[in-house]
Amino acid sequence: MTNQETIFSKIIRREIPANIVYEDDLALAFKDVNPQAPVHILVIPKKPIAKLADADAQDAALLGHLLLTAKRVAQEAGLKNGYRVVINTDADGGQTVYHLHLHILGGRQMAWPPG
Ligand code: AMP
Repeated sequence: MTNQETIFSKIIRREIPANIVYEDDLALAFKDVNPQAPVHILVIPKKPIAKLADADAQDAALLGHLLLTAKRVAQEAGLKNGYRVVINTDADGGQTVYHLHLHILGGRQMAWPPG
């Protein structure tokens, strides 16, 4: 699937509401509307990369920035005992919104393997 308009583009442009917890020039973080853990925050790039499989070498710094943003957001959410960062990618990965996003899940013990 190629880059296209998604609900996350509308959140970036403030066309629909979201509970935004962090923003900078490159990234936005907001609470997941259907949380799967006591803390469930999404970190997205403002650049509309549809999925991880579409990222390339030009995106290396941006991808690093998203991970460091996840770390920062998790710290600010008080996840002292740890947390999980997930990127669902394309159909088999269970991706439903085609704008790259990192799930930060925490506040409970995570299970492995995931479903
Ligand atoms: P994925 O299945 O990895 O593509 O994850 C998409 C995530 O976006 C799901 O966890 C949804 O609950 C979440 N989501 C969908 N729409 C919204 C929204 N308007 N605000 C916040 N989170 C959303």
